[in-house]
Amino acid sequence: MDFSNDLLILASEAETALAPVFAEIDRIASVNTERVLRSFAAHRVSEALFAGSTGYGYGDNGRDTLDASYADVFGAEAAIVRPHIVNGTHALTIGLFGLLRPGDVMLSVTGKAYDTLAEAIGLAGKNGDGSLADFGVSYDEVALLTDGGIDFAGIDAKLKEHGAKVKIVFIQRSKGYANRKTLSADEIGEVARFVKARSGAFVVVDNCYGEFCDEKEPTACGADLIIGSLIKNPGGGMAEIGGYLAGTKRAIELVSYRLTSVGIGAECGASLGQNRNMFRGFFYAPHTVAQAKKTAAFASFIFEKMGYPVEPLWNEARHDIIQTVVFGDPDGLCAFCRGIQAGSPVDSYVTPEPWDMPGYDDKVIMAAGTFVQGSSIELSADGPLRPPYTAFFQGGLTYESGKYAILTAAQFLRDLK
Ligand SMILES: *Cc1c(COP(=O)(O)O)cnc(C)c1O
Repeated sequence: MDFSNDLLILASEAETALAPVFAEIDRIASVNTERVLRSFAAHRVSEALFAGSTGYGYGDNGRDTLDASYADVFGAEAAIVRPHIVNGTHALTIGLFGLLRPGDVMLSVTGKAYDTLAEAIGLAGKNGDGSLADFGVSYDEVALLTDGGIDFAGIDAKLKEHGAKVKIVFIQRSKGYANRKTLSADEIGEVARFVKARSGAFVVVDNCYGEFCDEKEPTACGADLIIGSLIKNPGGGMAEIGGYLAGTKRAIELVSYRLTSVGIGAECGASLGQNRNMFRGFFYAPHTVAQAKKTAAFASFIFEKMGYPVEPLWNEARHDIIQTVVFGDPDGLCAFCRGIQAGSPVDSYVTPEPWDMPGYDDKVIMAAGTFVQGSSIELSADGPLRPPYTAFFQGGLTYESGKYAILTAAQFLRDLK
């Protein structure tokens, strides 16, 4: 790929301006790396733990130690980290079905829950498929305020309306596919305190894309349960599959009964040779997340200067790894995704096309030239084909490769004009 000269000049301006931003990103990565290393030392992580178990997986010390390490690092009492969890939606579904019972209310306080949860909740799909609604669990929500803030008065009103039936207060940390702000771990802590002063509900956080962006996780700030995917941040680009749930002892006990069976919980589940990748990924994760944040900040600078609305701005604090750029038309969105694909290490020769993705309402265009299929701690972009034609992108295993792909996408956009 040949980049035009003015693009290279812009890239150099970006890196000069971003030096203090990158330094702050590195500082957070150091704090988090230290916490991971201290936890590995405390739990005596060793070669023997990387051997996999088979069958029932009783006594899999590697699995149990990784669980304990996740719990420590995330400021939780317990955790389950498993290759049997197929993706983030599955991990979230385990959390919801694990805690909710007939007659309960799930109250989402960050607006509509992530698109792929709609069918599990029963907001979409067919009656009788086994959604929460089929089991007599109802769903209600409080939208975010127009400035992106939490509507505390709205939460108070809904807690009064539903009373003790509210079993889960649900918070989505990252913006997902919405044009909204991402919450910091501290902001989530504030919501948790507010809820706990008024209700016995579990405070549950969809933590996808948030891990290691702040110096602590929502569980260290008062949330009862956080949930995420290992082919995003905490897998560090090394985990080949998996998800995690971390939280209070009781919350983890209940969700472990949903993961396997009541009475069996976390005692079964062979790791099948995935322990090494999951440990190594957790070790890399704070650094890899920093690479992704630098890639996002670089992109934010470049596309803002090219005239596209971006969020966050290059010099704003980042509480997740997602960057959005608003293209305003489908051609710009598609050119951007095709550029990201062309600048990726894998499948750089393929041309992304919009498609009807399972679980999503609109057609979606995706770029993912990744070593692990669909991994979005690796540089990847997706955008629903609906106005205002926003690209959501994230990841980048190394800043250098992320920068190359961003410049390739910028060149594709310039060539469109
Ligand atoms: C990725 C993500 C999920 C889960 O998506 P999967 O594709 O099933 O892993 C849920 N919520 C948010 C906010 C996410 O970013």
